[in-house]
Amino acid sequence: MNTAYVALGANIGDPAATVLAAYAALANLTDSRVIHTSSLYRTAPVGLKHQPDFINAVAALETGLAPEELLDALLDLEARFGRVRRDRNGPRTLDLDLLLYNDIELDLPRLTLPHPRLHLRAFVLRPLAEIAPGLAIPGRGSVAAWLPAVANQGIARL
Ligand code: ADP
Ligand code: MG
Repeated sequence: MNTAYVALGANIGDPAATVLAAYAALANLTDSRVIHTSSLYRTAPVGLKHQPDFINAVAALETGLAPEELLDALLDLEARFGRVRRDRNGPRTLDLDLLLYNDIELDLPRLTLPHPRLHLRAFVLRPLAEIAPGLAIPGRGSVAAWLPAVANQGIARL
């Protein structure tokens, strides 16, 4: 079994309900089990500012799926939740990003591991630190060590 961390984000409709429903859907993924889920966090949008706040969270999975199989499963779930891809950083029903998969470093056209922006975003680091405070980001040091760098980003634990 492998350990993977998945970031969840939503800001259309009832985003908190969407994230909770996505937790339930992750628990039903093939050959996978959810081992930790973070609290929900409310965050101001990054990039495109004129859109609703996001609800963000992170889940830890144990999975037999390979990294690209897991990515495909996450993209399928996004589609099932009705995500419409328009603008990068724009509003979405549900965004699922694969943050980490064991200590694998990978740079494929459709999958970069660790997720290249994970250490820059409070909305990823804060929930990740909640469920895995001692976790290392391969090539970048510990999650905890990056927290001060994002202390100025607006985020509230619900
Ligand atoms: P973002 O999540 O950065 O706002 P999108 O979700 O629209 O952007 O972009 C997702 C695309 O990024 C996917 O098609 C996927 O192939 C690619 N990608 C690369 N690395 C990752 C990763 N670690 N997790 C999720 N998607 C990734
Ligand atoms: Mg994404």
